Amino acid sequence: MTENTSEPSAEVDKDDEESVNNIRFSPPVFRQRYSAALDVAKKSKVKSVADFGCAECKMLIMYKNILNLERLVGVDIDQELLRLHGYRAKPLMHEFIVKPRNIQLHAQVFCGSIANLDDRLRDVDMVSAIELIEHLYPDVLEKVPKTIFGFIRPKVALITTPNGEFNKYFGFSPGQFRHWDHKFEWSREQFKQWCDNCCNKYGYDVEISQIGFLGFQSKEDREQVTGGCSQMALFTLKHQQLEEEERIKSDGQLYETIVDVLYPFDERSQTQRIIHEMSYVISRLTRESELLAELVYEPQKAVMPLEKFLEFPILKQQIEGDVQMLEDVFKLRATAEFAGIELVCDESGCKSFVKWIHPYDNSPSETEEDFNQWSSEQVAENTDTNQCSTVDVWSNNARQVDEADVKIEMGS
Ligand code: SAM
Repeated sequence: MTENTSEPSAEVDKDDEESVNNIRFSPPVFRQRYSAALDVAKKSKVKSVADFGCAECKMLIMYKNILNLERLVGVDIDQELLRLHGYRAKPLMHEFIVKPRNIQLHAQVFCGSIANLDDRLRDVDMVSAIELIEHLYPDVLEKVPKTIFGFIRPKVALITTPNGEFNKYFGFSPGQFRHWDHKFEWSREQFKQWCDNCCNKYGYDVEISQIGFLGFQSKEDREQVTGGCSQMALFTLKHQQLEEEERIKSDGQLYETIVDVLYPFDERSQTQRIIHEMSYVISRLTRESELLAELVYEPQKAVMPLEKFLEFPILKQQIEGDVQMLEDVFKLRATAEFAGIELVCDESGCKSFVKWIHPYDNSPSETEEDFNQWSSEQVAENTDTNQCSTVDVWSNNARQVDEADVKIEMGS
């Protein structure tokens, strides 16, 4: 490990490695680190995440994008920084009013050291420590593996730190570091050794990658000679969690709570949300002529593939892009509950149609009897001829659909 002995003449701002020597990363390297952490959290489908060394809480804002996250924790030793920036972990006004989450998020920001074992961090699914470890004195650094891998034991942990070998591109002299508070800046080999030791002791696998390259770096320079600006280790838990008696005991609740907030959320069941959203989509379809125009293929009749519903972002999100989920909800619900929509299924699959009288059509409305007879004949006729997964909306004008909408049952 190299100790910081020299006074840096041109230090790199902690968020902006591009501030020295006219070096430019695209996107800025701090954003690349945040994106990498967010990707890991999304891909690992974690429900809870803790960010150590959260500083201005910017990574917490990124994690908030994960809509099925249930717990978000930020920890930093700098109380003043957290008091200034902890608000970033709180819900914004629009999260109360316009777009509440489907699952409640509990967000907390704590002031404390990564060297301490606070009860409330135990069993968090994912831990990140972005450009933190190089700020730690040896006695604190020594405790990091125990806290993360021994005590918390997350499914995944992500640690980033500067790659000292990259400093030549900042024009630094040997021993010069990027920030006045850095206690070391490891080479790739030094970081790998530290990571391997953590894995061997606590039963994790690790994959190390490089973040932040310069446009002129050759493939060989990126992969072998120098590497990237930051290095990132992604640890994954190898073994099952330990029995309670095997677990490292906590130090209690040592961290000071700066923020502790429950996010507003939408309490409807998923089925209820899908039904309400479909009703909205259908009522829009019957009103907006440009949407209708896309669908009409003969007078007073149109076929709408179920996939068409995916074009409506909120509904797409509710069904997680899975048309099958839409079919299932159709099957759960009586026709009337969908403003006359019906899904017709046979052994070849589910078929359905959109049918209405165009709002600008002046032809007289059918009687209810005509309408019912015509609709069932038409459904039967189309059952074996049309492509799979289309939707039937029967309505003799847009107003009727609106009325039917009002009658939709809200229960799941
Ligand atoms: N992770 C932040 C980001 O990506 O935006 C930047 C981290 S900043 C470079 C390092 C942070 O580590 C500082 O906010 C500092 O207060 C915090 N820190 C230093 N020692 C710590 C410790 N023992 N436990 C927790 N945080 C610590």
